[in-house]
Amino acid sequence: MSPGQHFIISWVTANTVSLDRKSRIFITLSGLIPDVDGIGYIVDRVAAYLGSSTTYYEDFHHIYTHNLLTGLVFAIICSIICGKRMVVFWLSLLAFHLHLLCDIAGARGPDGDQWPIPYFYPFLPDIQLVWSGQWELSSWINSAFGISFFIIALIIARYRHVTFFELFSLRFEKLVGEVATRRGFFKS
Ligand SMILES: [Zn+2]
Repeated sequence: MSPGQHFIISWVTANTVSLDRKSRIFITLSGLIPDVDGIGYIVDRVAAYLGSSTTYYEDFHHIYTHNLLTGLVFAIICSIICGKRMVVFWLSLLAFHLHLLCDIAGARGPDGDQWPIPYFYPFLPDIQLVWSGQWELSSWINSAFGISFFIIALIIARYRHVTFFELFSLRFEKLVGEVATRRGFFKS
């Protein structure tokens, strides 16, 4: 799925129980961290712009941070930063694995490449997760998931008075909250 779809699914996951802002942010980040190995995309684009050719995106993506070890390490870091709380650890791990699941289900390239996930990398790099029923990254199914989770995010905002803007700017989120309260969107 696209980063935006991963983001909204992760933020909803972070709000499945009542947690403080810091915990919600770190759990949401857990669902985005796998795509760190896609940073090569920017390098390749810059290289192409400069007249050179690199394949870091193809070589690194879905390998170095799309694996169990990364998920476990990041979940431990999150739980420590958020006060050694097991609920943060498990929700972080859940958000991370939802990302992997979404990639396995709906990230097929236009050329048919399925981007297999070496889940036990670097210990057992030959074991790769792939699903024959995988749909394309640009499929309407991914859009439907994104829209559905966006609606759930709106429901969460209505009843809990928090929005996903909290990841970007507290000031902006406060402003959104004030407008939502004034317009009667936030349920008291
Ligand atoms: Zn991914």
